[in-house]
Amino acid sequence: MKTYRPLPVSFARGIGAWLEDNTGKRYLDAISGIAVCSLGHANPEIAEALADQAATLIHTSNLYQIGLQQQLGNRLTQIAGMDRVFFGNSGAEANEAAIKLARLYGHGKGIANPTIIVTENSFHGRTMATLSATGNPKIQTGFEPLVSGFSRVPYNDVAAIEARIAEDKNIVAVLVEPVQGEGGVNIPGNDYLKTIRELCDKNDLLMMLDEIQTGICRTGRWFGFEHENAQSDCRPDVMTLAKSLGNGVPIGACLARGKAAEVMQPGTHGSTYGGNPLACRAAITVLDIMERDNMAARAAALGESLLADFNSALSGIEGVSNIRGKGLMIGIELDRPCADLVGIALEQGLLINVTADKVIRLLPPIIMTDDEARQLVDTLSALIKNFLG
Ligand code: PLP
Repeated sequence: MKTYRPLPVSFARGIGAWLEDNTGKRYLDAISGIAVCSLGHANPEIAEALADQAATLIHTSNLYQIGLQQQLGNRLTQIAGMDRVFFGNSGAEANEAAIKLARLYGHGKGIANPTIIVTENSFHGRTMATLSATGNPKIQTGFEPLVSGFSRVPYNDVAAIEARIAEDKNIVAVLVEPVQGEGGVNIPGNDYLKTIRELCDKNDLLMMLDEIQTGICRTGRWFGFEHENAQSDCRPDVMTLAKSLGNGVPIGACLARGKAAEVMQPGTHGSTYGGNPLACRAAITVLDIMERDNMAARAAALGESLLADFNSALSGIEGVSNIRGKGLMIGIELDRPCADLVGIALEQGLLINVTADKVIRLLPPIIMTDDEARQLVDTLSALIKNFLG
């Protein structure tokens, strides 16, 4: 079905931060398959682990115990400071699990219409419940009736959350992204997550973080919520992951801790493929590499130098409204729509993305070298100046 309008290119192979098309032309990948291939294309360690696993055991279903799923679950919960995890196959599925968990939690408290606070400009997926949670009318139009049970507030506005909790006794959870990705690389104030944590504690609500794009080292820490941990513990009750967790092998995860970890019981949720041996082997290998090579620190350092270099390359250029980022989630906002830049960059052998009409979004792989990063800054800055000029 024509659900996408793909660019006129098809890639035959990849290596590290590069993709190559059928004609042999090479492209520097500054989008990583939308924040997925953080450890690069054709990563040899992941390729070897997958080949070995494929030759051993790919799938059995959750009718049986799965050793690798247990191993990945232990690893992930230990890294995140959570207690339990449900595995699905995508980000949307991870969020579906979180939404179901919150509703079950609410019913357990005697709330007949459990409602989740969500934000404007958010993105949580394309299934019926996750598109209903999403704060973008373009994603929702035509698919009404939407799933009920979501209450929307502006992003980065804790007063609005507080007021909504006070006026609606059906609220059971708050679901936000630590940095909004699709919404335009929107970075909230320093106390945002900390205050949500306090409000959830005070009102016995679940704090749920969609870390599907921010998680697994993308922002310069294992998880986006850890940036505020220096001052206080912003660990959520529920956290969703996908994207970089499998480096391209589909996997999603919904983690929970404390009271939230005991909500789902046998029969409440399931998935045929979720957490199968192949996907879990990929994710275990990803976590091994991320930890061994301290990829969080690399993402933080590379993100900082990219921001500094873009700031100096584009300083004083009229039409560049804002340059912002956290780790390797970088947004360059222009004063005008700039979707055309994607095709122009493609011709130059550079893969970028534009979101929220005016924001050039960069999600480079964490393994990108300093030389490649310099090339990215040089090429893109020249394209932007030309576009604006
Ligand atoms: N949540 C966030 C924050 C995302 O960025 C995305 C995908 O872009 C999703 C959820 C949906 O993930 P998926 O496309 O794997 O269903």
